[in-house]
Amino acid sequence: MRQLNLRAMAKINLGLDVTGRREDGYHDLRMIMQTVRLFDSISLSATRSEGVRIRTNLGFLPTDDGNLAVKAARLLIEEFGIEGGVFIDLKKKIPVAAGLAGGSSDAAAVLVGMNRLFHLQLTQEQLRERGVKLGADVPYCIMRGTALAEGIGDILTPLASIPPCVILIAKPDLHVSTRFVYTHLELTEQTVHPDIDGQIRCLEAGDLRGLCSLCGNVLETVTEQAYPVISDIKKRMKEHGALAAMMSGSGPSVFGIFEKREDARKAASVLREDGYARMLCVTEPFYAGNGRIQREEV
Ligand code: ATP
Repeated sequence: MRQLNLRAMAKINLGLDVTGRREDGYHDLRMIMQTVRLFDSISLSATRSEGVRIRTNLGFLPTDDGNLAVKAARLLIEEFGIEGGVFIDLKKKIPVAAGLAGGSSDAAAVLVGMNRLFHLQLTQEQLRERGVKLGADVPYCIMRGTALAEGIGDILTPLASIPPCVILIAKPDLHVSTRFVYTHLELTEQTVHPDIDGQIRCLEAGDLRGLCSLCGNVLETVTEQAYPVISDIKKRMKEHGALAAMMSGSGPSVFGIFEKREDARKAASVLREDGYARMLCVTEPFYAGNGRIQREEV
């Protein structure tokens, strides 16, 4: 097999808590991660010529090692002395710098794809060990599904799957730097922390409403304050039937969880008509299945 087509899926955070600041500058996190069926398409081809080349549909993305997909391919080529090279055709649909782990998921898909394309025989665990060198979210993007992520986000525990639901993602037209959000985060005694353990219990009980009632993201204290449009979007989603509406990661994407697809569609059209977001996507959870690597679905 000399060519592979892969899907790199986005993630949302059903819960995001920051429990402390570490000496190395990173933060200790407790997050409930969920993969959704919004994806970038990646075609990976083995080439006779050496090196990694990439073509993307977004002209502003780096095409050198600054692109996480390229960096991932190069990492395995160098470690395993792979002869020849690869060509990556990347069609982005996941909004960039949006809190949806688009770049991390591309890197994860390339690691898994290279493992198959070149018969490297690495286990998922071994791929995750390499993934964390590229970014804290990469190990989770290799694992996918519903999971608890702790430490900097790389200590993973699979959780009971989220019950079936519909997810509306809205990305307002603004740029939020992850660094800005973490440097402005102030954890005080007044900080309201999401009940991550309560959410885990709701997942185990298959209780979607309970899970949604406990959704929370401490990073909203920074991003929502700086960009009130995030509150407006959350409010509109809830008015149109969202059981929960919150920011994903450090933002600015907001997602709503709905029981009915028609409610999610209605909320999307209201948000578009009122000019709150141009990028809107009605999607659903992705179920990973036994933690096995099923990359026809990447
Ligand atoms: P996270 O949720 O993990 O913080 P994000 O969704 O906020 O990630 P990305 O879309 O991964 O952010 O992009 C962050 C930065 O990474 C961008 O500034 C972009 O230039 C760079 N980048 C590198 N490779 C990629 C890629 N393959 N896709 C998107 N962005 C990439």
